[in-house]
Amino acid sequence: MPGELRVYNCGPTVYDYQHIGNLYSYITADVVRRTFEYFGYRVTQVMNITDVGHLVGDADVAAEDKMAVTARRESVDPLVLAERYTKQFFVDRHKLNILDPGVVSKATEHIPEMIALIERLLANGNAYVAPDGVYFDITTFPGYGTRLNAEPPHEREAGARVEVNPNKRNAADFALWRAAKPGDLQKWPSPWGEGNPGWHIECSAMSMKYLGETFDMHSGGEDHLFPHHECEIAQSEAATGRPFVRYWVHTRFLRMDSAKMAKSAGAFLRLSDIEERGYDPLAFRLLALGTSYRKGLDFTWEALGSAQTRLDKWRGVIAEAWQAAGGVAAAVSETDPNRTAFAEAVADDFNLAAALAPAEAAVGHATTGDVETKRRALGLLFDMDRVLGLSLRSTAIASTSLPAEARVLLEERARARERKDFERSDALRDELLRRFGIRVKDTKDGQRWERDDRKGA
Ligand code: AMP
Ligand code: ZN
Repeated sequence: MPGELRVYNCGPTVYDYQHIGNLYSYITADVVRRTFEYFGYRVTQVMNITDVGHLVGDADVAAEDKMAVTARRESVDPLVLAERYTKQFFVDRHKLNILDPGVVSKATEHIPEMIALIERLLANGNAYVAPDGVYFDITTFPGYGTRLNAEPPHEREAGARVEVNPNKRNAADFALWRAAKPGDLQKWPSPWGEGNPGWHIECSAMSMKYLGETFDMHSGGEDHLFPHHECEIAQSEAATGRPFVRYWVHTRFLRMDSAKMAKSAGAFLRLSDIEERGYDPLAFRLLALGTSYRKGLDFTWEALGSAQTRLDKWRGVIAEAWQAAGGVAAAVSETDPNRTAFAEAVADDFNLAAALAPAEAAVGHATTGDVETKRRALGLLFDMDRVLGLSLRSTAIASTSLPAEARVLLEERARARERKDFERSDALRDELLRRFGIRVKDTKDGQRWERDDRKGA
């Protein structure tokens, strides 16, 4: 629909904490949403939560379910596990100013939709029932595996590691439904007996339920290029006979020490690890904005430190400028060259790295400009922050959130200075520092204040 973006984000498998690599891919998804909203689009955003059936290794019946592996290890019900890690995921997202999608859909709440989709594929002759589940027959979908990948990855990997399951017609056929195995912690009734859904089918079923059979955009990390998204395309288009998704966004990995950060690899950082080292989650967001989703992010503590320094500088400048500007930001002018440069950068494939340059220029104007320039720079920064998501307006407002009594004293001091009663104004300055920890400075633009952390409440 014109003026609307309908977008699906592949959500996390909630058997463990999300690491900063996962969170980085959701920052990309958030920037996409914010960019479209910035340009006046209405965004319908859906994200799933995989709380069942994401298989370890090949998407095959022989593989084990990630949820089940952890649930068994920790002796908890898979849904308790899912609840715990879903909650933490949203705590982390909120710290990173990642906006909530309009729909958050859990796989376990959409089993009937998945079964209906599998039935359509069986009716169309794209799927077959085997003793251990239902499979998609890849020979019925020409070009399988090559829609997002130059050559079919399953052919590149032919013969490697994967043990061929004799129940499958073709080695690369993938499971739509798995028959329950003894000891399965999660299972549902189906026309093919008790079992659980394959991982890929959940995203096709839920995305099409909420967004329609053809929708605008679908995102995930680069590991989803194969098999996940190729399988989604094959089973969705085979079922509906229509194009599935118009645009795909795949975030390249966050890497540490040149290796992909992965839950299964053990060596991963959570957002809390970053906080424990004294960094602000929004410094990580700013670090993530400084690259392109097409390049990925090489995480180092030094780079995070630089992002933190940059964020602190911006915050300091904004707080000062806001006070000097009397808490007023000018309405943004569409013809402001920095505004234009910013809009062009974000519209160019979400090039946030390039968009930070005009933002930095606005910070410069907020630092050195006169009151009117500061007001314009602040207006511009608050406008850009609709995409950047760094809470810059809150920074400004927090810098003026004074106890009412302190505000009265500040106002009284300004009047004392106007009438050149320096004895009174000095006494008020001492009182503000002693009682509220507020240090007042006199500048050519009037009095300014800052918090002195060593004093006052
Ligand atoms: P998962 O829970 O494994 O499905 O991962 C959640 C999301 O994070 C998926 O979109 C993955 O593609 C993505 N992802 C996983 N590892 C990384 C990484 N190191 N960098 C960026 N994105 C990742
Ligand atoms: Zn998915």
